[in-house]
Order: sequence, then C-alpha cells, then structure tokens
Amino acid sequence: MVVMKFGGSSIADGERMLNVLEIVKKQKGRKIVVLSACQFVTDKLVSAAIIAKNKSSKDAQKMIDEISLHHINIINATIKNKKNAQAATELIEGLIAELSNLIDAISLLHELTPAVMDSVFSFGEFLSTTLFHHLCLADNIKNKLIDARLLIITDSNFNNASPMPNIYEKTTRNIINNLANEDIIITQGFIASDTNSKTTTLGRGGSDLTAALIGAAINASEIQIWTDVNGILTADPKKNNDATTVAKMTFQEIKDLSFWGAKVLHPKTILPAIEKNITVKVLNSLNPAAPYTTITANSATKKLIVNSVIAKNNCYLFNMKSDAATTDTTSIYNYASITNLISCDEIREEVSVLYFGYNNGVFTILFEKDEAEKDVKNFKNKNSFMKNIKPSQVLFSEPVSVICISGQNFKSNPIEFTRFISTVSNHLEGFNLHQLIFQYSDSSIIFVVDATQTDKIVKKIHSLIVG
Ligand code: ADP
Ligand code: ASP
Ligand code: MG
Repeated sequence: MVVMKFGGSSIADGERMLNVLEIVKKQKGRKIVVLSACQFVTDKLVSAAIIAKNKSSKDAQKMIDEISLHHINIINATIKNKKNAQAATELIEGLIAELSNLIDAISLLHELTPAVMDSVFSFGEFLSTTLFHHLCLADNIKNKLIDARLLIITDSNFNNASPMPNIYEKTTRNIINNLANEDIIITQGFIASDTNSKTTTLGRGGSDLTAALIGAAINASEIQIWTDVNGILTADPKKNNDATTVAKMTFQEIKDLSFWGAKVLHPKTILPAIEKNITVKVLNSLNPAAPYTTITANSATKKLIVNSVIAKNNCYLFNMKSDAATTDTTSIYNYASITNLISCDEIREEVSVLYFGYNNGVFTILFEKDEAEKDVKNFKNKNSFMKNIKPSQVLFSEPVSVICISGQNFKSNPIEFTRFISTVSNHLEGFNLHQLIFQYSDSSIIFVVDATQTDKIVKKIHSLIVG
C-alpha cells in the first residue's frame, strides 16, 4: 500500500485538485491519500479565530466567507455534474455553518484556548478532504473518506500534539485492515484526537507527519510527499531560480536543513517512516514526471557529497567572556549556571535558543526571534543571575543569519572536507563571517553571517554546489 500526501500548494485551486486526481488515478494498487487544507486556508482560520477573540465576530465572518467562496469556486470549476456539485456544495456549506458557530462562540466568550484553536484548525482539512472525496465520486472513482481523528491518537498537547505510538499504530492498522475492499482511502493530514476524543493538531506543517505515521503503522511500501517543486532542491527555489533537484538525501540532512530554515519538510515529520525503513519520496504534483528526491536512512556512498544550502534569518548572537561571565568564581560553575539559565522555562518562552557553546574562553548563545531588541532585554532582566553579568563584557550582535550546508560523509572525509571549506572561504572573501564553522557534523556545516549579506552569500555557495 502506498501513502500519498498532497500539501496545501498541491490543492490550492480547481486546476491543481484535478492534477492531484490524475496522479491518484495513475498510482497502481491500494493507496491512502492524505490531504492538507487548501493553501492559505489554515492561515485564514488562525486570523479569523484571533479576530473573533479580540475584535468582532463580523470581521472574523468575512474571512470565513472567503474560505467558503474558495471551496465553492473549486467545486464549480471541477465538478460538472449538477447532482454531484450540489451534494458537495451542501456538505461544504454544512461545515462552514459549524465553523461560523464556533467563531461566534469565540467572539462571545473573548476566549481562544489551544483546544478550541485545534477545533478551528480542523475545518481546513475537513473542507479539502470532503471536496476531494466528492471530486473522486463525480469521476466515478470509488473511495472512502475516513476521519483522521480515528486514526491518529495523540497526547493532549493541543496545537502541537505528539502521537501515542502503541495506541495509534494498532488503531490505524485495524481501521485500514477493515477497509480491505477500498482501493482509495482519503483522510486529513495534521488533525488527530487525544484519548478523550478531543480534536488535536500535530503542529503547523503536520500533514507530512500524518503521512509518515500512517505509513509506519501499516508498513506502507512507499510514502510520497507531493508538493509544488521538484523534490528537495539545492537551495530555496524562491530565492535561487537555478536550484536543482537533489536525487538522494539522507534523513539527517533533511532534519538539519529543516531546522535551519528549509520549509519544505518539517524536521520531525518523516522520522516514523525512516525508523521502519520505508522509502519516502518528495515529488512535484504540478509536474509528476519531473525529477524527485528519495530520502534514505543512510548515505549510499562513503564519498563526500555536498547537496544543499539554506539560511535561517532573524537570529542574534550573544557572546560573553568566561572569566567575566558572572561575578561568581570558576568558569565551570559559570558554564553550569548559564546552561541552567538557558534551559529554564521562563527564558525558553521568551527566546528560542538555537545553539549554546563554549570555545576559547567565550560563551556563545545563538537565538532566534523577530523582535530581538525586546528579547535581549528580557534575556537580561528575567533572571537574577544574568543581572550579575557586567554589561561591558557582554556582546550582542547585529541581526545575523545562520547558513547551513548539507551533505553526506563530512567527518569521514577530512581531507576533502577541509578542501571544500577552504574553497568556500575563498569564495566568501570580503564578506563578514561571524564564525566560519559554528557547528559541524557528518551531514551539515553551520556558520553565521551578517543578515544583510545572507542572500549574496547563499548564492555564492549555491554556485559552488551546482557548479
Ligand atoms: P506543501 O504545501 O506541499 O506542504 P510547503 O510550502 O510546506 O509545501 O513546502 C514547499 C515549499 O518549500 C516550496 O514551494 C519551496 O518554496 C520551499 N522550499 C524551501 N527550501 C526548499 C528546498 N531546499 N527544496 C525544496 N523546497 C524548498
Ligand atoms: N494545514 C496545516 C498547515 O497549514 C498542515 C499542513 O499543511 O501540513 O500548517
Ligand atoms: Mg508543508
């Protein structure tokens, strides 16, 4: 059985939905189709819920009307048979009415809990899957629509729930096995339920995770992640139009790339599939015959391979000398204190610490946040330990970006790797590099550059990768 996941970009409008239908039809054998919400719908649901809570239900309902119109337009563009179109329209209108009631309730109570937000979120995927289910029916394609909340059981960490492996695997397997006569099973990505049957979600971009979870539970022969570009590319295609497909990538590379800014796959999403050694492919739904990426658990070669470059913006560096780090005594004590400090929940809520290290007598903390000025103050004021730091010995950087180059076998090929790094640094002469090597592993090297020079530096490195 194959799991086919289509992201919001693949079902953004009627034409794209029809493309997806063709891809599903061409796939041989039994398949499970996992759909995200149509592109931008989840963002609109967030806005509507926040507007309902803080402003008025009337303003929020305008966004709901836009969502409704978008789906009705898709029906009109794709389902020609009147009877089928009417049946689909009625179901979409029913869902929109439920959503409207929920938005009214948020507005009335001026309260939006994470649990309620998850209920709001769920409408995006319910709308898209209901529509696709009817698109298939209108084309005489037998299929079964299954509520993902029955398949994926999670903890109650609303908005970012984690699956409960033993419970969900059995449930999913049983349900799918009982549908042995169904060739096409359609379900929602991203949404799930906790053990009390309350709706939860797996975190933004979580449909990839749904696909991997289902694939792992039923031991799928393959998981296909269909998106709007030719697989995983050598750089972000929105900024580098010469980016090309990487044919084979390791799971660790994807993890590193996603952590450092590549939006294409969420880091935790494909882990369940990799653990079960299931092939994961990333393909282009707009051009199914185009090159694609296959993700493997391990590198297929022992050679040094450099595959891709990505940048993470909105980062700040915080440096302090160890002997002056606090008014306290030894540097070991200071190291422990700083470690405690950055792992304390209060601070974690304020800033997202990406890296913490100690090198040559200098502590370095790299953190990410849009409003860095405010965070720097919070960072200092929140903890009495930090108040003891002598301000003159603490340096905050101007905004920086973190650049990540991904590849394979960096550590096992030290000579080639050193040669590569020296080529990179020659290429980047004249640029302001805060730290050439910040962190490095077998699958990536990370360094920090001035925010203003990021795009130019990425382009330079990319030209080395694509030759
Ligand atoms: P979906 O709607 O299919 O979930 P996403 O928007 O989540 O799609 O992810 C696909 C997007 O990721 C692409 O349109 C592309 O702009 C962006 N992207 C960023 N970096 C990369 C990369 N290295 N390779 C491929 N896509 C990338
Ligand atoms: N619709 C959800 C989101 O936009 C989940 C997904 O697309 O994977 O985050
Ligand atoms: Mg996505």
